[in-house]
Amino acid sequence: MPVGTQASVKGLTQEALEQLGAGIILANTYHLYLRPGHELVRKLGGLHQFMSWPRAILTDSGGYQVFSLSALRKMSDEGVRFRSHLDGSEHLLTPEKAAEIQLALGSDIAMVLDECIETPAPREKAEAALKRTTDWARRAKSYFQEFASRNGDLKQWQFGIVQGATFADLRRESARQLLELDFPGYAVGGLAVGEPHAITCEMAAEVTAMLPKHRPRYLMGVGRPEQLADYVALGIDMMDCVLPTRAARHGLLFTSEGKISIKQARFITDQGPLDPKCGCRVCRRYSRAYLRHLYASNEVLAQVLNTVHNLSFYLDTIRRVRHSIRLGEESCFLSGAGLDRNRRPPRMQP
Ligand SMILES: [Zn+2]
Repeated sequence: MPVGTQASVKGLTQEALEQLGAGIILANTYHLYLRPGHELVRKLGGLHQFMSWPRAILTDSGGYQVFSLSALRKMSDEGVRFRSHLDGSEHLLTPEKAAEIQLALGSDIAMVLDECIETPAPREKAEAALKRTTDWARRAKSYFQEFASRNGDLKQWQFGIVQGATFADLRRESARQLLELDFPGYAVGGLAVGEPHAITCEMAAEVTAMLPKHRPRYLMGVGRPEQLADYVALGIDMMDCVLPTRAARHGLLFTSEGKISIKQARFITDQGPLDPKCGCRVCRRYSRAYLRHLYASNEVLAQVLNTVHNLSFYLDTIRRVRHSIRLGEESCFLSGAGLDRNRRPPRMQP
């Protein structure tokens, strides 16, 4: 899922996203709640209509941004009180409020509010966050069901989020508790926050081994291009990451020959394509020398073209993984990380 923080994947039009073949994007509840406000988006027909995006949208709960962006956070069992990073105004985000905002936005998939903690975390802290995350998931689900009973069938799905830091038994316990709540899909949260890739894989494997295969399993906030196939092999169906778009804006481009920094002087006279193996419209048309010039000149077009290529590279990687699954050749993509537990990659239906 490309990340469209403020109802916009930075640098790209919705037409360009459609051309890239993006079937779903992620939008950030925290940002849209503060600006322009979820009630305004509801009045304007919901997020799809507001941003003219006919394909799927997943909204996060807002929790992660509250933890990473806002000031004066105060956690309690009720929710998290914070001050807006925009104007300092005070807000209270509860599991019910996060559900209410996402219902107003009208995304296709809403995430429950969970408690994000730093990793590595002491066990007691991870246990407390796990308990609170389950309590909040229960409250979010109740709010959702009450809303549905008042307003008829909902078009939105609500996903639970497995926590438990880097403790395998806590991860399993969190998954077990959430399974009792019976969500239509599940996410694995609180990973890829600085721990080694093998640990991320190990924790994801613990969880995917328990979650039903016929419901989407979403690993939040990953990853680097070379890691995507590892996660799919562990049973992950959905991922999101700001890396392709953020790196693009800093001139860092992912290619079949590895990551390159387009600002480097060695590209000044390089008339070759950015990535000879990429079929995106940037690689078909523009040279490395031109892309380097645009970046060095701080042209808006540099951000646009770099983002088109990086997202294309990510989406192509996933298309190749899907193709390999259809051919039954999962193993040809695996880098090996996280697969040292003699666990066969789960078979997935195309
Ligand atoms: Zn390209």
